[in-house]
Amino acid sequence: MSDIAVIGFGQGGAVAAVKLAQQGHAVTLFEQCPRDGLGHPWYDDIRFDIFAFCNLPEPPRACYTNKGKRLFISPDRKYSLRVPSAKPMEEISISRRALNAHLASLCEGAGVRLRFETPVEHLLLENARVTGVIVGGQAQRFDLVIDASGLFSPFRAELPDCFGVQSQPGTEDVMTAWRGFFAWEPGTSAPDPDRNIYIKHLGGTGLSWCNLNDRGEVDMFVGRIGGLPDKELERAAAQLKSDNAFCSSRVLQDGITAKIALRAPNAGMVADGCVLLGDSAFMTMPMMGSGIEASMKAAVWLTDWIETQRITDFSAAHLWDYQVRYYAELGAKYAFIDIVKRWVLGIDTDLLNWLFGCGAVTNEDMGLVSTDPDNPNKLTAGKILKKAAIVLQKPKLIAQTAVWMRRAVHAKRVAAAIPQVYELSKVQAWQRRYNDCFRFL
Ligand SMILES: Cc1cc2nc3c(=O)[nH]c(=O)nc-3n(C[C@H](O)[C@H](O)[C@H](O)COP(=O)(O)OP(=O)(O)OC[C@H]3O[C@@H](n4cnc5c(N)ncnc54)[C@H](O)[C@@H]3O)c2cc1C
Repeated sequence: MSDIAVIGFGQGGAVAAVKLAQQGHAVTLFEQCPRDGLGHPWYDDIRFDIFAFCNLPEPPRACYTNKGKRLFISPDRKYSLRVPSAKPMEEISISRRALNAHLASLCEGAGVRLRFETPVEHLLLENARVTGVIVGGQAQRFDLVIDASGLFSPFRAELPDCFGVQSQPGTEDVMTAWRGFFAWEPGTSAPDPDRNIYIKHLGGTGLSWCNLNDRGEVDMFVGRIGGLPDKELERAAAQLKSDNAFCSSRVLQDGITAKIALRAPNAGMVADGCVLLGDSAFMTMPMMGSGIEASMKAAVWLTDWIETQRITDFSAAHLWDYQVRYYAELGAKYAFIDIVKRWVLGIDTDLLNWLFGCGAVTNEDMGLVSTDPDNPNKLTAGKILKKAAIVLQKPKLIAQTAVWMRRAVHAKRVAAAIPQVYELSKVQAWQRRYNDCFRFL
C-alpha cells in the first residue's frame, strides 16, 4: 500500500481520496481553505447517476432538487430553442457546500487524513521526480502526489518540461463568471421553462442566464470569455432584469466572480510521481464549464487503475494509462467541443441570430443535445436535406462551418490517436500535434 497526497478538496480530489483510502492506501488531503469555507455558496448542475458511477452514497435529499427544462435564447433575444426536459432526477441542481460536506464525511469514514487550512507551498522534486510536498516549510514524502488544486494550479509550472504539462490556460480558455441571487418579484408568475441560457448575450463572447430555481430564488449568471468588465456586467444584468419580470432588485446573496475553465484537456496529465486531476488537468466540458462530473469520473478511472494494476511505482510511464483512459472516455470528445465553442463565440452575431430563427435548427433538434439516450428525435437524411436547403441561403455560413467542422474533427482525431504506450519521444510528438490543433487563431 502507498502513501498518497491529494492537493485540493474539490470534487475530483475528494473522490480520489475516498476511493484510495477505501483501497487501504494512506491518504492525506491538503486543503488551503477551512472546512466550512469550501466551495462557493451556490448550486451546481450535475447528473444524478454520478454517485452510482462512483459507487458512493448519494448526498442527503435536502441538498438537491430536480432540474427542469432549458431554453436557449439568440443574441438579439428574438428567437429561442427549447431543450426537451430530462427524465425525473436525471439531472439535479445541488448545493456545492452540501456536496463538499457530504464528500468530507465520506473521506473521514474512509480514514483520509484531512488537513484543512493547510496550503501546499511547493512540490518536492528530486531528480525530476515528484517525491512529496512542501507544507509549512517542511518536506513531506509521498509515493504519489495528486494535484487536484484547480484551474490555477501553481504546481503544473513546477513539473519538469519533458512531461509536456501546459502550465497556464490561455485567455480564451477561461470564462470570468459573475453569479448572484435575487428575490422573486411578488405577484409575478414563474417562467416557463424555468431555465434560460442566453447565447452570446448582447453580442458578448459568452453566455448569461436568469432563472427561477426550485427554492424560489432568482439565479443570475453572466459569463464572458477572458474578462468581465464592470460595464459589461452592469449592461447584461440590467437587460436580464428587464427581460425577466420575476427578478426583483432585492439581493438575496451578493454576486461572486469566479473563473471557469472552458477548454480541451491538458496535453500532459502525468509526471513521475505526480498526476493531475479535475480542473487542474482542464477536465471541464469546454462549452458549458461543467467539470464536476468529469473530475469525479476521472478520480474513479485513476483509482480503479491503481487498484487493478496494483502499481506502486507511480512513474509517468505507468500513470499514462490513466491519461489514455481519460482521452478515450471524454478527452477526444471535449477536444471537438473546444473547437465548436471557438466557432460559436467567433461567429458573426447577425449570422447566429439568423441561424436561431431560420428554421434550420428546430426545437425537435434540441433533443439531440439533451442528455436522454432514448431521445426519439433522430437526424434523418430527409431532415438534413431540408436544413441544407435553408442554410444554402447563406454561403458564407456554409464556408465558415465547413472550415470549423474540419478543425473540430481533426482535433478529435488527433486527441483520439494518443499513444497507447508511453514512449517519451512519441508522447512528446503527440502532445505537439494535439496542442497545434488549438493554435490556429
Ligand atoms: C461559477 C461557476 C459555476 C460552475 N457551475 C458548475 C456546474 O453547474 N456544474 C459543474 O459540473 N461544474 C460547474 N463548475 C465547474 C466546477 O466548479 C469545477 O469543474 C469542479 O469544481 C472541479 O473540481 P476540482 O476537483 O478540479 O477542484 P476545485 O473545485 O477547483 O477545487 C480545488 C481546491 O484546491 C484548493 N487549493 C488550491 N491551491 C491549493 C494549495 N496550494 N494547497 C491546498 N489546497 C489548494 C482550493 O482551495 C480548492 O478547494 C462551475 C464553476 C464555476 C466557477
